[in-house]
Amino acid sequence: MKIALIAHDRKKDSLVEFAIAYKEILSEHELYATGTTGQRIQDEVGLKLIRFRSGPLGGDQQIGSMIANNDMDMVIFFRDPLTAQPHEPDVTALVRLCDVYHIPLATNMGTAEILLKGLQEGFVDWRLIQERRK
Ligand code: PGA
Repeated sequence: MKIALIAHDRKKDSLVEFAIAYKEILSEHELYATGTTGQRIQDEVGLKLIRFRSGPLGGDQQIGSMIANNDMDMVIFFRDPLTAQPHEPDVTALVRLCDVYHIPLATNMGTAEILLKGLQEGFVDWRLIQERRK
């Protein structure tokens, strides 16, 4: 599974803590991240990942492009709901693309935990359900 990891600045500590707690599950997957988030996860958690540009410089859009190409399976995006972001349109576009393509998206730690546990148990059948409808 390809999993994207993104966190706004005030949520980066939280995502690092989460990645430490779920390192074992995360390490079984192909990880992608926006620039600064990815750097911190590499340095502080020791997980290997592919880093895109920083979010405000196009990283969110690079991940969005993978979603549009049906090349991303899950997005964990710890958003900061209390701070205005200069790249808010990109953030909205990424969330929108997740909905367009039925990509599981966690915007907080509680949901992210359930997604990863579901993934570990093999509960992720939505692509099959979608195929059956064609
Ligand atoms: P960053 O980008 O990981 O480069 O900080 C995240 C974002 O703000 O979208």
